[in-house]
Amino acid sequence: MKYHIITYGCQMNRSDSERIANALENLGFIPYSQSNKVDLFILNVCSVRQSAIDRIISKAESIKSKLLITGCILQKDKKRFGKISDGIFNIADLTKLPKILKNLGFKIKNTGILKSNHYLETEPKYESNIIADIPIMTGCNNFCSYCVVPYTRGKEISRPIKDIVCEAKKLIQNGIKEIWLLGQNVNSYKPNFAKLLKQVNDIKGDFWIRFTSSHPKDLTSEMIETMAKCQKATPYFNLPIQSGDDNMLKAMNRPYSVKKYKELIKETRQAFKKYRKGLEKEVAISTDAIVGFPGETKKQFENTKKTFEEIKFAFGYISRYSPRPGTTAARMKDNVSSIEKKKQKKELEKIIEKTALDFNKKFLNKEIDVLILEKKKDFFIGKTRHYQTIKIPAFCNEAGPRCKIGEFVKAKVTEVKPYGLQAKLIEARLRQGLRQG
Ligand code: SF4
Repeated sequence: MKYHIITYGCQMNRSDSERIANALENLGFIPYSQSNKVDLFILNVCSVRQSAIDRIISKAESIKSKLLITGCILQKDKKRFGKISDGIFNIADLTKLPKILKNLGFKIKNTGILKSNHYLETEPKYESNIIADIPIMTGCNNFCSYCVVPYTRGKEISRPIKDIVCEAKKLIQNGIKEIWLLGQNVNSYKPNFAKLLKQVNDIKGDFWIRFTSSHPKDLTSEMIETMAKCQKATPYFNLPIQSGDDNMLKAMNRPYSVKKYKELIKETRQAFKKYRKGLEKEVAISTDAIVGFPGETKKQFENTKKTFEEIKFAFGYISRYSPRPGTTAARMKDNVSSIEKKKQKKELEKIIEKTALDFNKKFLNKEIDVLILEKKKDFFIGKTRHYQTIKIPAFCNEAGPRCKIGEFVKAKVTEVKPYGLQAKLIEARLRQGLRQG
């Protein structure tokens, strides 16, 4: 029995697909890349954008084999998906997959591997042997007025610390170099995100830690200090601001002020200055923002621009508002024209381009640690600890050091751009992936 999975949406969905793949393989299925020749097709979908839903529907209609759909699905989309598939299952019901497949006529060997209570307790089949995602929680209690996640994934549920630490230990023993701790709002992880981060940081081995997403309302001084003290946690921090105007934040149901956000960034920068050495003192602050939220005036958008200029982000992901049925914002008038939204997105991206370049200039001629991820044409491509994408020429110098995919190297930065760095290789293998500065 052959299967194929297509995943849409965020890192959390990709991580869920790894658990689905492992479940299927334990039930006797084998992965198959030629999607038109499989017995079972899984679409792990995302209801977050209407454009994505339309693409998924046309993909689903072209599938000839048995089709199951899961993922972040709104009630109203469930009806549409139900008509074009052989079934929909909630990812939280992954442990019921054997029954669902039996009902579809598959002769599965039920190994009892899916006897866990919660799907996050099941084992994943990791896609990469360099970077691994570890979901630490699922769901969200925040109900930002534009977001469907609390409706599709339900209330927050945190995994026990010991399970996460155990998963991380196994991964590191198997040579994983970077661990992502995932959750819709990792700062509200229970019992305490700082405690979890510290325990993962204490695991012996040569690896980096990253995490996403964070919510300013739940970010505490204890978390900031822990993040800066935990040397394996990379100096890259994504803290979505969404808007630089207090009234817009209120309309978005984001319970913090711009002043509070700036204080958190200041505190984070000070903590890294205090607890890190060399370039690690410079934390790369990244953010997410929405332009054209219902009711936003030109003046309010100007406030966001001003805030961006003041904070000087190293990365920023700007999205144009589009209503999602069922959310509070969908009942508001989507009054900002799409031309205006496009223009505003470009304006914010221009500010980020400048501040990102200023940030990257600090790295020029400096030696930094890089995790090599792939080779493209004449370059090895990797990520720095600050999450910049970096290119290293793959010159053939037999006598010199060489890059190896999946390993840490030391490189000297030769060129900086807003969206990346170029460097030359200094040392092929680091005994410790942490030295820098
Ligand atoms: S914090 Fe807000 S934006 Fe993030 S998943 Fe929860 S409701 Fe959505």
